[in-house]
Amino acid sequence: MEPFQLQDDVSVPYFSLRSWEREFPHLAAGISARDGESVENPNSTNYALHVGGRRETVIQNRKRLASRLGMPFSSWTCGEQVHGVAIREVTSADRGKGRESMDSAFPETDGLLTREPDLLLTSFYADCVPLLFYSPDPAWIGVAHAGWRGTVGKIGSRMVREIVRRGAARDQIHVAIGPSIGGCCYEVDEKVVMPLKDVLPNPGRAVVQPSGRGKWKLDLKEANRQLLLKEGLKEDQVVMTGWCTSCHPDLFHSHRRDHGKTGRMVAFIGMRKDDE
Ligand SMILES: [Zn+2]
Repeated sequence: MEPFQLQDDVSVPYFSLRSWEREFPHLAAGISARDGESVENPNSTNYALHVGGRRETVIQNRKRLASRLGMPFSSWTCGEQVHGVAIREVTSADRGKGRESMDSAFPETDGLLTREPDLLLTSFYADCVPLLFYSPDPAWIGVAHAGWRGTVGKIGSRMVREIVRRGAARDQIHVAIGPSIGGCCYEVDEKVVMPLKDVLPNPGRAVVQPSGRGKWKLDLKEANRQLLLKEGLKEDQVVMTGWCTSCHPDLFHSHRRDHGKTGRMVAFIGMRKDDE
């Protein structure tokens, strides 16, 4: 079953990780969507401050989504993504970093985790793979940005280790691999494929097909799934979307499809405060 379910009956379209939210009702987890309007005007569903477009619109978009998720905008927290593997723990002292300006975002940080409620961890996407993490007891949540570089650098495995190091049992960690460019649309050169062949247990499943003239089709979602299993997670701890960002212009921004002229979706995870 598709883990990311489109919530399009509301003013702010987004995909919700319904199975997680059903199991853990205090959790808000998912990724934003485009709508018909944003196909003409990408800025109307752009959530990132670093890609041009009006800052006021981005902040307005963020406020609307946070409100829809039942979390205050003050809880919105993010890092400056650089296709690295750095992971930072977020505490209430960091609450709101990056929410209105890149200047206050965690510098050079592609992974965020926290044990505290009332923090909405966010990161931004237009083809790269969003990884969401949740451990119920002790409660830990995380988000990691895995493009090609982050995947080769095993940012997903690193996040699992960070959560285990903080007391969670490895067999209690849930990971969701979200919408990103699929093996159907991600054609790359051999020099992109080779480093992955070295780290993947089953490269034949992730490097889909040679497509002629030294080109390959690469499935980064499957690559991340394999690396998480290699890290010791069981198949049922890892859910993976079927959505390809490039195949669905009505629902997703895609950097490659739109030749770089596009906005960003936001992947998010947060624990709502109990008493509200
Ligand atoms: Zn596709």
